[in-house]
Amino acid sequence: MQKPGQLSIGDLGAELKRAGGGVTVKSQAEIDLMLDAGRIVGLTLRKLRGIVAPGMKTKELDVVAEREIRALGGKPAFKGYRGFPASICISVNDQIVHGIPGEKVIKAGDLVSLDLGAIVGGFHGDSAVTVEVGEVPDELRRLLETGEASLWAGIAKVRTGNRIGDISHAIEEEILRRGKYGIVREYVGHGIGRALHEDPQVPNFGPAGRGLLLRPGMALAIEPMVNLGGDATRVLKDDWTVVTADGKPSVHFEHTCIVTDGEPIITTKV
Ligand code: MG
Ligand code: MG
Repeated sequence: MQKPGQLSIGDLGAELKRAGGGVTVKSQAEIDLMLDAGRIVGLTLRKLRGIVAPGMKTKELDVVAEREIRALGGKPAFKGYRGFPASICISVNDQIVHGIPGEKVIKAGDLVSLDLGAIVGGFHGDSAVTVEVGEVPDELRRLLETGEASLWAGIAKVRTGNRIGDISHAIEEEILRRGKYGIVREYVGHGIGRALHEDPQVPNFGPAGRGLLLRPGMALAIEPMVNLGGDATRVLKDDWTVVTADGKPSVHFEHTCIVTDGEPIITTKV
């Protein structure tokens, strides 16, 4: 949910510093709040993926998302974030991230990316999933599998003693192992906690063994974005929606994770 056109890999760090961000280590009480927020995000996404169907307008999904988040005791994290007008980002086909729900009608064969966040007691959860509507061709099915597998490859490296670069590299390696895909470079994963976006940035590519050393209690949103075509992106005139420059489809998978000495806690998994 970085504001496109204003926040790229390069300037997200500066933005975070201005906002008083930085790498934070969560207490057990804070982790408990993040588990609550994550659970609300996970349950809401599960509900939405169960109802996405041809003929629905994307704004109808936003209404359900906001109602569900609030009914479960959370606050929609995206609504009003840097002026974003809805509770969920819905990005269809060549839209990568940050699509604004509206009059767009979902069709059979679409890839629909659902990305949402919730806040409980001041702490955030953030997760995304791309779903296919009805049948999709094999190359899109493989794109979906690649995006999801790359998320899990990254999550497998979220562990005390590893570095951010280990996560980035595992994601990239998993994607490239599966085909010639475009890995989005301008939008990245991020630290998360009291703020939706905290340090550090978590790119979806790059060398292993570099970057911040992970410690227990750090929280990271891991979120690969994978394109069927090239990696270039552009932002639509609405100043939010990020699309592939070549018009080819894209997928996005995200979970919020907390570093431990063993397996990470995945707050948004239900
Ligand atoms: Mg997200
Ligand atoms: Mg995120």
